[in-house]
Amino acid sequence: MPIYEYVCLGCKTKFELMRPLSKSSEPTECPKCKRTANRALSQFACFTTSEAGVTAPVGGSGCAGCASGSCSTCHT
Ligand SMILES: [Zn+2]
Repeated sequence: MPIYEYVCLGCKTKFELMRPLSKSSEPTECPKCKRTANRALSQFACFTTSEAGVTAPVGGSGCAGCASGSCSTCHT
């Protein structure tokens, strides 16, 4: 089963939950305060990919400090 991320409307806790795809967009219960938690915008999967792949230029022009091209000293 895929894992989805949810955010509690009450205490803002983020947690992950393994659910069937058919129930992925249904609200669930916060493990902490038992209030309603909605599904967080699931961008973590493709977000991670673009962070590593797209942000870093081909050939790698990151500075010595970060190697990813995204720290403050990388910007020229
Ligand atoms: Zn909560």
